[in-house]
Amino acid sequence: MQLLEERILKDGKVIGTEILKVDSFLNHQLDIRLFNEMGKEFKRLFADKEITKILTIEASGIAIASIAAQYFDVPVVFAKKYSGTNMDKDNYEADVFSFTKNTMYKIKVSKKYINKEDKVLLIDDFLANGRALLGLSSIVTQAGAKVVGAGIAIEKAFQNGRLEVEKEGMLVHSLATIVKMEEGKVYFKED
Ligand code: 5GP
Repeated sequence: MQLLEERILKDGKVIGTEILKVDSFLNHQLDIRLFNEMGKEFKRLFADKEITKILTIEASGIAIASIAAQYFDVPVVFAKKYSGTNMDKDNYEADVFSFTKNTMYKIKVSKKYINKEDKVLLIDDFLANGRALLGLSSIVTQAGAKVVGAGIAIEKAFQNGRLEVEKEGMLVHSLATIVKMEEGKVYFKED
């Protein structure tokens, strides 16, 4: 998606060779006009699929999924990383290894919000090693529901996330695919 690629080139900051910081438009300050265009593009990419729910993971996925959900006209559920005392006790859970924090954490979704009839689109900001998507997919499977596919804003194709999730038969569409980051520069996959 050209608009997102241009924005990454303009405002993204490369940290080393593996991390892209996009705090100024995607992860901290949010460019809602851009998110709207991303939502439309996700809808176009998954137009032939029946989708009843979008599942994402807090925190960064929530805004992207919420704006996209307006084009699918379905509810958004987000997996919680930090469950307070008000969280339901009857949850689906999965362990996820965090790429950016280098630790394991648990994600939880109340059993109330995914049921076996659901056809679920997973949405997240980044695809790196695929752990977040695999955790979300495990929750959908535990609920007896079906993963229709995953919509990713930024895929880092030099990490093995796509390989890992495609092993599970997951359909992945990414809006921007980075093949390399070197000396502060980002290189995208050619169409
Ligand atoms: P994965 O689970 O695919 O290994 O990593 C994806 C998750 O890690 C995303 O939810 C995202 O929040 C975070 N992440 C992975 N790589 C990056 C990156 O380069 N930049 C940022 N900002 N987040 C990342």
